[in-house]
Amino acid sequence: MYALRGDSKPQTMAEKYFASRYGVPMINRPEDLPQTGTVLWSIHSFRDAYKVAAMSHLKGDAEWVTGGNAATNPTGVAWIMDRIFLGDAWAEFGQILAGDRSHPSLYNPSDPGPVPLNEEPIPDHPVAPGVVMMSVGCPRRCLFCVNAFRRPYEEQDQQVILDYVRGSARKGIDLISNSSSDVSYYEDITRTLADAGKTDTGISMAMAATSDEVIAARKREMLWGIEGMSQRMRKLMNKPIKRALLRERLIRALQLGKQVRTVYQFNFPTETVEDWEEFLGDVEHVREACDSGYWAIPFIPHQPTAMTPTQWLRPQYSLDMVERIMAFRKSMFGSKENGVGVYVPAPLYPRGWFQQVLSEWLPITPALAAAAQALPHKAPIPELVSRMDDAGFDVSHIFDSDKPKDYAFPWDHIQPWMDRDRLWHFAKRLRKGGAVAG
Ligand code: SF4
Repeated sequence: MYALRGDSKPQTMAEKYFASRYGVPMINRPEDLPQTGTVLWSIHSFRDAYKVAAMSHLKGDAEWVTGGNAATNPTGVAWIMDRIFLGDAWAEFGQILAGDRSHPSLYNPSDPGPVPLNEEPIPDHPVAPGVVMMSVGCPRRCLFCVNAFRRPYEEQDQQVILDYVRGSARKGIDLISNSSSDVSYYEDITRTLADAGKTDTGISMAMAATSDEVIAARKREMLWGIEGMSQRMRKLMNKPIKRALLRERLIRALQLGKQVRTVYQFNFPTETVEDWEEFLGDVEHVREACDSGYWAIPFIPHQPTAMTPTQWLRPQYSLDMVERIMAFRKSMFGSKENGVGVYVPAPLYPRGWFQQVLSEWLPITPALAAAAQALPHKAPIPELVSRMDDAGFDVSHIFDSDKPKDYAFPWDHIQPWMDRDRLWHFAKRLRKGGAVAG
């Protein structure tokens, strides 16, 4: 298995699980690639397609097989891969290692018929030391989120989690879930963890479902995906956190001495400076209500995502908004000296975002990768499109408009659990909110 993150040790969850459970050796030197009969890759981010392109000349006669989060839409890497596993392969990996290539979700790019995303049951054993899967998918329907639309929601048997929490010698246990507070038995687990003097180390929660009890019992950071900067924006994207609730939960967590991390997105459709000003008002309100604490606020540039209702949206990136975020980031330097310390990491700039979008839509060949990597770090999207055109790549169709319902996307041969008609049903919310013409 090739360690794309440049370390000989497994880094991603898939690398850790498959390397330890199946004894798969890790390689991390490009020069080892030609001598390796079958190379396994774990594609974690759409930008990994550029790393693969940089090594594609070393493939020779080897077989390359990939899987991973970003390989669920394999457009960027399909040109160089022999097989791509679409979905998790907890159970199937052994068969793949043994040479079986017959699984229906093991996509062969030279035979691109309809391919189903794999939906296997959640493993009932730890997937890494101290790591157990508590749920997959998500019962909510935030319009931008792959977790809501690519596979049905499923919870681990409660007894499996209880037995693990009670039986493990570890103090910190990672119960993996896209939204822990939505797991039907999470309050029971919270109590069991507390009784055993243990903690859940890695949780992301839905703010509307996070009870006082869960906040009070939490020993680590509170992580909430807020996403939209304003109540209007969150409603449009079907993540309806009311402003009053947002403020109240943040204040409660900080006053209870919890570190807080709230993830926001920018570049949502119809977003304006008024949405931003609402966000600023919320920060000011919370800081006035709390004397101290730590609050991290990362911003992610929204990217319309394949197989979700946002796939029909025109990808947009606002330079004005990223400048506002950067100015706010600067204004918060030293904020812990006079109250809640607010930390805002620098968001992804247009070039990195643009490269991600390209790899959802186009094969990332070495020539295309070179053109995309030569783009300026920060420029308006029309300029990036024009520079790609100068380099011989017409990418204007991706960025020029919203798409009609029957648009032929490059990922249409992948069949997620939710079909196009139902995705479109959700996408119509965006039309009602004025995000999409028609
Ligand atoms: S609550 Fe989180 S994981 Fe669930 S659909 Fe919304 S953003 Fe996705």
